[in-house]
Amino acid sequence: MSEFSYAVQLAQKLIRCPSVTPKQAGALDLLEKELKQMEFQCTRLSFGEGIERIENLYAEFGDGPSHFAFAGHVDVVPIGSVTDWKFSPFDAEIKDGTLYGRGASDMKTGIAAFVSAIKKWQQTSSSNTKISLIITGDEEADAINGTAKIVEWMKKKNILPDMCIVAEPTSQLEIGDNIRNGRRGSLSGSLIVKGKQGHVAYPHLAQNPTSALIKMLSVVSSKKLDTGNSYFGPTTAEVTGLSTSSNVTNVIPLSATAMFNIRFNTEHSKETLIAQLEQHFIKAAREYNVQFEIEWKSNADPFVTEEGELTELLSQSIKKLTKRVPELSTIGGTSDARFITKLCPVAEFGLVGKTMHQIDENVSIKDIDVLTNIYEDILHRFDAHNEY
Ligand SMILES: [Zn+2]
Repeated sequence: MSEFSYAVQLAQKLIRCPSVTPKQAGALDLLEKELKQMEFQCTRLSFGEGIERIENLYAEFGDGPSHFAFAGHVDVVPIGSVTDWKFSPFDAEIKDGTLYGRGASDMKTGIAAFVSAIKKWQQTSSSNTKISLIITGDEEADAINGTAKIVEWMKKKNILPDMCIVAEPTSQLEIGDNIRNGRRGSLSGSLIVKGKQGHVAYPHLAQNPTSALIKMLSVVSSKKLDTGNSYFGPTTAEVTGLSTSSNVTNVIPLSATAMFNIRFNTEHSKETLIAQLEQHFIKAAREYNVQFEIEWKSNADPFVTEEGELTELLSQSIKKLTKRVPELSTIGGTSDARFITKLCPVAEFGLVGKTMHQIDENVSIKDIDVLTNIYEDILHRFDAHNEY
């Protein structure tokens, strides 16, 4: 018998499946097998075409009517150069109480912890709470053929959990210090400004597009676009790319382009931001007598889960098992919780995320067991809450 808990062993098995998006590499097969033994009904959902086709898994246990969901992703980011790793990325080696490997933090351990928690809960709970698991293979890449589509499928089948926890590694320094109850939205712009090319010594015969571009970017260059609100910090905008059609010192270029990204809070929608910025761009283009084109892309709207039953359950269990009082925050990049928010209140809570996506990604195995206990405690609290 292994000296490690079921959760740690399951995490190791999952890490040993090299499931770099879009491959599931056996990770979903393994989970399905475990969950079937736990009497879950499993449904494989594949979306997309060709090599981009993504496998996902929806699993359900119990009758309800009360219904609790966990969500996570089995896909991981690429390892980079294997020779940079001290611990082989898919070996799931444990050394001095630390588990190493791609997905150790983000987030195969989180999945292992909730599966293990449910297993323990099944042995001690007599409730008929329904538990569902939303497991995607498409979180780290485009996130088009994963949770977004599972959520649509669930809506159509009228499968509506009361609440959901996404097991992303939200803890900052120590397990339990941070819950994410929202995330910012993301909006990218590619801007191209066209002027009139000419000799740099005869600027009156040309129309320099860079002057207009600089003016246009004055509102997106490391700027805060609002002062934030009670759940979010200010919306921030950063220029990420700049170029011109001329790369010499004696030609005024014909065109100049810029790329930028805005991480926005719930004070805006992408429509209001686009309208506000385009108005500014049009004004600048007129002033400098140039033309411009802009292409917008947004793959994430901001969301927030207000403080309530879910954040309360999480905080109580975290406090009981770690003695820490978690902070509610909305920092970081986008996550699949932005899709689940369309189904039910959702929050993210999991292990320490310090090494996610890094070389020698790792997590404390003690923390995996603590997280398992927190998730189990939450399920019992959820039962108690629904007994009335
Ligand atoms: Zn993740």
